[in-house]
Amino acid sequence: SRGDEFREAVAEVLALDPTWVLPGNGSDELLTLLMRSVTGPDRPLVYPTPTYVLYSTLAEIQGAPAIEVPFDDNFALPVELLLAARGTLTIVANPNSPSGTTTQIERLSILAAGLKGLLVIDEAYVAFADDDALSLVQHHPNVVILRTLSKSHSLAGLRLGFVVAQPEVIEGL
Ligand SMILES: *Cc1c(COP(=O)(O)O)cnc(C)c1O
Repeated sequence: SRGDEFREAVAEVLALDPTWVLPGNGSDELLTLLMRSVTGPDRPLVYPTPTYVLYSTLAEIQGAPAIEVPFDDNFALPVELLLAARGTLTIVANPNSPSGTTTQIERLSILAAGLKGLLVIDEAYVAFADDDALSLVQHHPNVVILRTLSKSHSLAGLRLGFVVAQPEVIEGL
């Protein structure tokens, strides 16, 4: 089974077709899947720092270069530098951990439009923010939204996470 019941429940809550949803054993499993799918020795991972430490760990396991781009002093997202790093996979945690800062959806949209590779927006803490980037998947075939029930729903032990992306991306994963 592909977790069809959970997939359909997510689709209903978010008003999407189930073909846009992929469940996983927590979002860590989905991050692993994304890394294995698109990064490698010549296919770098890019992310702003400081952020969730698992990103660098997964790159190391995968043998992929991890290009770290520092946030500026106000934790503004360094969009130009992230674009210049040309990742096959770029990950932005929004809200970010550990800073708790957020980036406006318009800025994430500019990043998505300029990247050839996938842009993962890790929304583990989105329930504590005013806005989410879900609408970006409609317009950007390279955007992958990552959610988890571990934090805001206190269900870390159940291992329930999911990806929202266009069906071609979901099929590929
Ligand atoms: C906790 C966390 C995750 C992973 O959570 P799971 O329990 O694997 O779903 C992913 N990204 C960020 C930013 C987190 O804080």
